[in-house]
Amino acid sequence: MSRSYDPEAVWAKYLAERDKRLVPGRADIRDLDRDEHFARFREDPFTPVVERDPIADDADVVIVGGGIAGLVAGAELRKAGIERIRILDKAGGFGGTWYWNRYPGVMCDVESYMYMPMLEELGYVPTTRYAFGEEIRLHLEAIGDHFDLRTGALFHTGVERAAWDEPSARWRVHTDRGDELTCRYYVLAVGLLNLLKLPALSGMEDFAGPSFHTARWDYDVTGGAPGEPLTKLGHKVVGLIGTGATGIQCLPPLAEAAEHVYVFQRTPSAVGERGNCPTDPEFAASLEPGWQQARMDNFQAIMLGKGAEVDLVDDGWTRHYAAVHHPPKASTLEEYMRGAEELDFGIMEEHRRRVEELVADPDTAEVLKPYYRYLCKRPCFHDEFLPAFNSRNVTLVDCPGGMDLITEKGPVVDGHQYEVDVLIYGTGFEPEVTPLYRRAGHPIIGRDGLSLAEKFEPGPATLFGMMTRGFPNLFVMPAPAQQCVVTVNYTQLAVLGARFIGGAVGILERRGVKVFDVSAEAEDDWTQKIVDSFVDGSAVMSACTPSRINQEGHPESLNPRAGNFGRGFGDYFRYRELLQGWLASGELEGLEVDTRSPAP
Ligand code: NAP
Repeated sequence: MSRSYDPEAVWAKYLAERDKRLVPGRADIRDLDRDEHFARFREDPFTPVVERDPIADDADVVIVGGGIAGLVAGAELRKAGIERIRILDKAGGFGGTWYWNRYPGVMCDVESYMYMPMLEELGYVPTTRYAFGEEIRLHLEAIGDHFDLRTGALFHTGVERAAWDEPSARWRVHTDRGDELTCRYYVLAVGLLNLLKLPALSGMEDFAGPSFHTARWDYDVTGGAPGEPLTKLGHKVVGLIGTGATGIQCLPPLAEAAEHVYVFQRTPSAVGERGNCPTDPEFAASLEPGWQQARMDNFQAIMLGKGAEVDLVDDGWTRHYAAVHHPPKASTLEEYMRGAEELDFGIMEEHRRRVEELVADPDTAEVLKPYYRYLCKRPCFHDEFLPAFNSRNVTLVDCPGGMDLITEKGPVVDGHQYEVDVLIYGTGFEPEVTPLYRRAGHPIIGRDGLSLAEKFEPGPATLFGMMTRGFPNLFVMPAPAQQCVVTVNYTQLAVLGARFIGGAVGILERRGVKVFDVSAEAEDDWTQKIVDSFVDGSAVMSACTPSRINQEGHPESLNPRAGNFGRGFGDYFRYRELLQGWLASGELEGLEVDTRSPAP
């Protein structure tokens, strides 16, 4: 079969572009827990903190995190008949990532009809195919109200320590507001991309103007509000660092408002077509009961290469992302690899042609072209980002190896000082593979004083990725790198985890169980399954441009114990079947249970 391109030339270009970015220190970040200068970057700009007295009481369940995971867990626990539920969150309201990320243009790049949870329960149909952040946030608030989760919620409250107390068979939870809570079940729903990432850039504290991270957008500086024009930037020069999913979404509104925007780009994103549109009333009227789960399943089947009669979502995820992860079968490995490479090359060529079509200046277009395999980096989808570079007030600054430094006037790249009034860090979050105990942000102490950090130090050890031995009555919402599965539509996984936790608590309550723990055998068995299905993809991924997806150029550092149930992203459907079977049997297989009442 003749090829339409020269693979050697393509690979030479891809590897040269990778090497420009594989520079020492590229992943260095400021530790915001200890950073005097930048700790303020984590403060809540959206809701004033209101003083309150510390609380000391007992709940049935304490859930840490009021984002999608915590809300759907709370909803399923309500359905299981649990009354006293407390959701704790450092944010000033429900929403998790959608609480914090209110930057202009924020939207979800996964279709809203699948992504926004519990649409059928709430009788809601999103107004557009891809929803803007504020609509998602308000919907999550509505879930909190619908399931009466607001009553027990404690906002602007971070957990400082949680420890299992054997005599009372309860978790003791201490918060930064002085609360001393106890609960029978402790649920961690702490989020995946919850720790904002601030690169360690030389001189960054010297910058004299206002600066902030996109996950704490400062509308006092820019004017406006989510979904409204930015009113205070007319005479301001803005520096935007980062062109990932966030950077591409906030550039167009910045370009509309600011006198000038300098966009500092280290690696171009592959920006595919978005095609957002208002929801068709006929589509909304046609939805039959069970439609949302069916739509999620259709998407997931395609993402896992299982095929489907129709592609209901039919967007860049199903057309491109699914395709490169499941190339056509071939009779030899060599043919298969070649087919995969050609497919990927074709998709990336389409993206590069799109840049040429949408960006008028050829030099700017060249810098915006992504030269790596599509599977190397999370793809982006947007229709206004690339055309924004045709505005006279937008300048792209190419800095593949990073910036030289930041002075009081702004960034310096290749010796050139860019003077800016405002500096915005669209630099993302610590990756999903960040260990659970770090994402949780507080010590979690189980039986015999063992901390979760100590236990997971060699890698996770769990049953179903949601329970772990030595930490009785603890549930963890499923997440990547935690021995479950990964779904592009995170909501699909969250709903599954929540149903499992709600169902498991229902069984435990009906059987009068006071304390459960995972048996050593069940945990070993599950962990072995995860290790056995681990596929070392480092040969392919090390050729990628460095990113979160390949551990910033070190894919070999992945721990097989932090893998998934099934190869690659894991087999969502087999995992779901297994969890449903476990619940249906009601036997609590793999758990050690105690029905004796704790000492008074
Ligand atoms: P991101 O994808 O990690 O992008 C961060 C950007 O900052 C990248 O362009 C990165 O360059 C750049 N950067 C980091 N350190 C830098 C440095 N030292 N100097 C210069 N540039 C630097 O972060 P994000 O855009 O906030 O997105 C994070 C994740 O959030 C996404 O992957 C997605 O999962 C989620 N998200 C989703 C949506 C959605 O629509 N569903 C929207 C926003 C975010 P490099 O590429 O070179 O590292």
